[in-house]
Amino acid sequence: MIISMIPRATSEQVDYVCDKIKSFGYAAHPIRGKERVVIGAVGDGKDKDRIISVMESVPGVESVIPIMQPFKLVGSELKQERTVIRMDGFTIGGDQFVVMAGPCSVEYREQLMQTADSVKAAGAKILRGGAYKPRTSPYDFQGLEEEGLKLLAEARERTGLKIITEVVNTENVDLVNEYTDIFQVGARNMQNFALLKRLGRTRKPVLLKRGMMSTLKEFLMSAEYIVSQGNTDVILCERGIRTFETYTRNTLDISAVPALQQLSHLPVVVDPSHGTGKRNLIAPVSNAAVAVGAHGLLVEVHPKPEEAFSDGPQSLLPDEFEALMEGVRKYVTVDGRSL
Ligand code: PEP
Ligand code: MN
Repeated sequence: MIISMIPRATSEQVDYVCDKIKSFGYAAHPIRGKERVVIGAVGDGKDKDRIISVMESVPGVESVIPIMQPFKLVGSELKQERTVIRMDGFTIGGDQFVVMAGPCSVEYREQLMQTADSVKAAGAKILRGGAYKPRTSPYDFQGLEEEGLKLLAEARERTGLKIITEVVNTENVDLVNEYTDIFQVGARNMQNFALLKRLGRTRKPVLLKRGMMSTLKEFLMSAEYIVSQGNTDVILCERGIRTFETYTRNTLDISAVPALQQLSHLPVVVDPSHGTGKRNLIAPVSNAAVAVGAHGLLVEVHPKPEEAFSDGPQSLLPDEFEALMEGVRKYVTVDGRSL
C-alpha cells in the first residue's frame, strides 16, 4: 500500500509510521519527494483492509491506498517521479542520454585501452567489458576474471570513464564490487533470484538485462527483487527477446522502452548490439532508441572485431562507433536532451 504523508509531516511522524508498518510484518520503504514523503508498505497482503484502516488514523498520514501493480516498489503507482541515478559527473534516468560502450569481453590490455580511449573520445561516459562471460558453450572463452577487472580499473584511471561489468553469481559479488561502478546482470541471470537479492544489499547501481524469454512483468518482478532489499538504483536494459525471426540474433522489443517507462519509474536503456547481432543494424536501432525515449545505450565496440573472443559480428569498429555517436547526438538534441 502507499501511505502518503501530509506535506509538512515531521520526521518523527514518518519514523512512527514506518515502525507501525513493521509491527504488522510489512517492510517500509520511505520515498522522499519534492512535496511530501510517501511510504511504500509491502507485505504478503494478509490483513490488508485492517492495516489500511489503522494507518489512515495515524497522525501525519494523509491517505492510504493499495498498490494494484504486482511490482510494488519499482512500479509507477508508488512513485511517479523518475528515478535518477547520480554517477558523479552525470546522471542516468534524467535528461541526459548516457552511452556505455566497450568490448563484449575484456581480452588483453591493448584491446581494452585502445577501445576505452576511442569510446571516451567519441563521448561515451561508461566503459563496458565482461570479465566473467556466461557463454552458451563451456568450451568458449569464459573471461579473464579478476585480471579483467584489474584491466577495467586501469582503463578507468586512464580515461576517467566509469565502468560496468557483469557479475554472474553470488560468490563473485564482493570481488566485482571492489572494482566496478555499476553491476551488470546478464539476460541469462535475470531470474537468478539469489544473485538479485545479494545485489539488492550492495550500494552500487545494477543494470538488469531482460531475459531472452521474459515478459515485461517478469522483468519488473526481477527488478523488484533488487529494490526490495534496499538498493533502489536499478537500470532496466532491453536487449532483445527470442522470436521466430532468425535474421537478427534477437528481436529488439522497441515498444518495451515506453511500456517500461509507463509501468515503472526506473531508467531504461537499450542494447542494440545483442538486440540485433548485426553491425549494420546498430546505428539505426540506436536512433530509434533515442526516439522512443530510452535513457541510454549499451554498445559493443572492438578494435579488431574479426579477432574478438566473443560477439565480433555485432561489435562496431571505433570509427563506426564515432559515427553512431554523431547520429545519436543529433536525435538527442532534437529531443531537448544532452549526451
Ligand atoms: C553482454 O552484455 O555481453 C551479454 C552477455 O549480454 P546478454 O546478457 O544480454 O546476453
Ligand atoms: Mn556480448
